[in-house]
Amino acid sequence: MTLPKGYKPNTKNQNNLPLSAEKITEGIKIKMENGKEINIKEEIGSGLQATVFAAEYDGRLYAVKWYYSKFATKKQRQILEHLVCKKPPSSNFVWPINILEIDEVKGFGFIMERVENRFKPLSLWINRLVNPSIRTLLTTCFNITRSFYLLHSNGLCYCDLSLNNILFDPSNGDIRIIDTDNIVINGQQGSVSGTDSFMAPEIVSKGVIPNVYTDRYSLSVIIFFIMFVNHPLEGKKESQVKNKRDEVELKKLYGSEALFIFDPDDRSNEPDTRHENALIYWKIYPKFLRDLFTSAFTKGIHDPMNGRITEGVWQRDLARAIDLLTCCGICKCENFYYPNKIQNKSRCWNCKRPVVATFWLIFADNNIVVLNHNTNLYPHHLDPNNREFDFSIPLAKVISDFRGSLFLENKDSSKWTTTTKDLKMENIGKGGRLNLSNVRKISFGRTSALVYSRH
Ligand SMILES: [Zn+2]
Repeated sequence: MTLPKGYKPNTKNQNNLPLSAEKITEGIKIKMENGKEINIKEEIGSGLQATVFAAEYDGRLYAVKWYYSKFATKKQRQILEHLVCKKPPSSNFVWPINILEIDEVKGFGFIMERVENRFKPLSLWINRLVNPSIRTLLTTCFNITRSFYLLHSNGLCYCDLSLNNILFDPSNGDIRIIDTDNIVINGQQGSVSGTDSFMAPEIVSKGVIPNVYTDRYSLSVIIFFIMFVNHPLEGKKESQVKNKRDEVELKKLYGSEALFIFDPDDRSNEPDTRHENALIYWKIYPKFLRDLFTSAFTKGIHDPMNGRITEGVWQRDLARAIDLLTCCGICKCENFYYPNKIQNKSRCWNCKRPVVATFWLIFADNNIVVLNHNTNLYPHHLDPNNREFDFSIPLAKVISDFRGSLFLENKDSSKWTTTTKDLKMENIGKGGRLNLSNVRKISFGRTSALVYSRH
């Protein structure tokens, strides 16, 4: 980061703004303490609290958020001062780098990284204006939970998680989390309580201060929304609310009478024709994910401390679901493959024909990984004690030759021992490849897996 810490208010009215203007405008320059200037460019967005501008500093593009004077409070300033001193928990957070102020304009703002154009609002998916794959959607959910795992591990609380605060790359599930200027130390009172319908029921009905447990509720709502294109509490009861601005009714729906649309013991809020997406997508995803949502929105509604799904559990099960993805050989739709016919769900959700993967691994701990032509294995696959879910460097890679035969290549420095179908033992070192159609078992060192094929 090339930006200097601290700020230096301008001493001369060199921007030709009226003294005490309400906000900065395009064309003004903010002088930093090293003498260099931030050039404010065009406005790129505005919300309830502030306006966001493009900005240029030292030849690089940034963004500057400037608060309306009503929101440029002492509290907000304290929050920012704390955040600029801390490192972001991950590069997925668009973090405040430096507080800015100038003499001619009321209040203050801050500078942050500019989000690349490849990141799009999640609303584009909810409104079906982009068409990401199921793998991308699950990767998006995984990246969000990973980021919140790191945020909460740092003792911080986001307070205002909603679909509006997350941008995603529809081609691969990379994410950026924006509006990080509401993040506070867990337990402290921040500037916001959250966004309607994403707030935990205890905030809506009892006015509880946002905390890690309320973040976890909002996280489950976001994941549900991304996977099922529907809010988890919006079924028949939401259809019956005539005036969608009736605060009393909304407080019941999202607070005191919150009821999951797939609550197994109370069907009175089940999805109706206005909420068909939920019915369609609910059938596609694995039972172990549906069970997590059922827990999150039954016990988790009433018992914030014990009932909510932790980021660690979400990470584990989202990664597990990604490992089961394969394509239907007939219609090419993505499906979850259950080789041992758990749930009796080996038929394509779209064309109803049987789905069979070419190869799959069943690890010693019963984890299953379908081997598609582009599958990678990572540290958490090959070491049962690894919970870091580091997807940056694959330890094994599926590759195919010109005939379409699939091989598993060892990208790791540790040696594998394989048992072939005719019971010969072979060692595979780094760079070595094994032909999946010839191998019965692979010992990876810390774990082993049996290799299965449809033949
Ligand atoms: Zn199909």
